[in-house]
Amino acid sequence: MEAIIRVEEVSRVYHLGGRDVPALQSVSLAIAAGQVMALRGRSGSGKTTLLNCIGGLDRPTSGHIWVGEDEVTQLSESRLVQLRRQHIGFVFQSHALLPTYSARENVDLMLRLATVPRQERQARTEQVLQLVGLGKWMDHRPYELSGGQQQRVAIARSIATRPKVILADEPTGELDTATGQQILQLFRHIADVEGTTVLIATHDLAVDAFANEVVHLQDGRIVSFASA
Ligand code: ADP
Ligand code: MG
Repeated sequence: MEAIIRVEEVSRVYHLGGRDVPALQSVSLAIAAGQVMALRGRSGSGKTTLLNCIGGLDRPTSGHIWVGEDEVTQLSESRLVQLRRQHIGFVFQSHALLPTYSARENVDLMLRLATVPRQERQARTEQVLQLVGLGKWMDHRPYELSGGQQQRVAIARSIATRPKVILADEPTGELDTATGQQILQLFRHIADVEGTTVLIATHDLAVDAFANEVVHLQDGRIVSFASA
């Protein structure tokens, strides 16, 4: 199967107070379209650094990364902005929704940024909010929603533009166990229904049940790789 994300020999060294911190050391992996991959490892193992490098929010010190046809590690900043708007959805631990916007308006904003025409925007917004189970909550603002529902809005927002890839960094970090499980299950459902490739960085063991592959990072290196 064709890989949608390819990471080849990626290293990232941070310079901190005259000291070199190797956050990633020669990491290589490939993810096929429609797969869910869990990136596990304790705090400081390099998960966020790897997601940021794949999403073009950070640049590796060496190595190469492709998302679809694009070599992320070769793109200019303006092309990276374009790539992120069109092909990559981000979900973070804290949902970062606009507080005065309804669920619908939060999702619509992403489509406006991607210059999707108004007619299409409305249909797609309703489709993704229904997909994440918020059909009845579309006109509610974040403070009127539970933590799990807010994260569902963030997920709806991340998939609205039909990105090839979703990068989720500790998406269950602020949720209770049961709600966290439902969110992980939702990522699985989105991968199955929309064909989106999902990479989830987490230390939540529950993710294993929903992932096709589980990669273990330790001190910036991949120490194990398991397929479900
Ligand atoms: P994780 O997401 O698994 O907790 P990170 O990718 O955040 O791990 O961090 C990996 C390593 O890189 C850690 O040692 C961390 O302290 C270091 N690090 C991360 N970001 C920076 C930064 N901006 N400047 C310096 N060191 C950093
Ligand atoms: Mg992190």
